[in-house]
Amino acid sequence: MSGDHGRRHGAHDHHHHDHEGALSPMDLRVRALESILVEKGYVDPAAVDELIETYESRVGPRNGARVVAKAWADPAFRERLRADATEAIVSLGYIGRQGEHMVAVWNTPDEHNMVVCTLCSCYPWTVLGLPPTWYKSAPYRSRAVLDPRGVLAEFGVALPPETRIRVWDSTAEIRYLVIPMRPEGTQGWSEEALAGLVTRDSMIGTGLPHDPASVAAAESGP
Ligand code: FE
Repeated sequence: MSGDHGRRHGAHDHHHHDHEGALSPMDLRVRALESILVEKGYVDPAAVDELIETYESRVGPRNGARVVAKAWADPAFRERLRADATEAIVSLGYIGRQGEHMVAVWNTPDEHNMVVCTLCSCYPWTVLGLPPTWYKSAPYRSRAVLDPRGVLAEFGVALPPETRIRVWDSTAEIRYLVIPMRPEGTQGWSEEALAGLVTRDSMIGTGLPHDPASVAAAESGP
């Protein structure tokens, strides 16, 4: 279950995040700019929200999707990612600004991994972009630990009862990337095609990759 949860937050200093809490000078400038543009009617706040949503769910997580796809397709990279995820991710050109350690955790039929930050919103932004709002919410942060299976059900994920769920608590020093299981029926797929199956939520552990059959159907549709 969530045996690993809680053993780290006590030991590290949670005050030196620069991605949350106190806004950076750049964040402040961006917000000031946004409010002026909105006030003058140059931009629609809904359009700004849409832009952020795009970055959270589509643009941001593409780095992680490429990491996962390469781990699926390339055994040498897979071993490298297991041995030292930070190094393996940097080798693809995805470089974090905080130097935090990345750890890849691998889903199997026996064990499903899920990531949370119980104290705030530590998130592997180098590979996933901006954290979604729900990730930062108090209900997710507490319930992911207390009732991970219930949380997964709300995300539409039903795992076999015999699959253990392991919850990883992110910190300022360690960020987790879930490597979902490679979907059946993808033998011979290119890394690019495989990356198209990898959703953001599947790398947080609150989702699963797209079904290859439905993706293929959509692509060959009218
Ligand atoms: Fe945190």
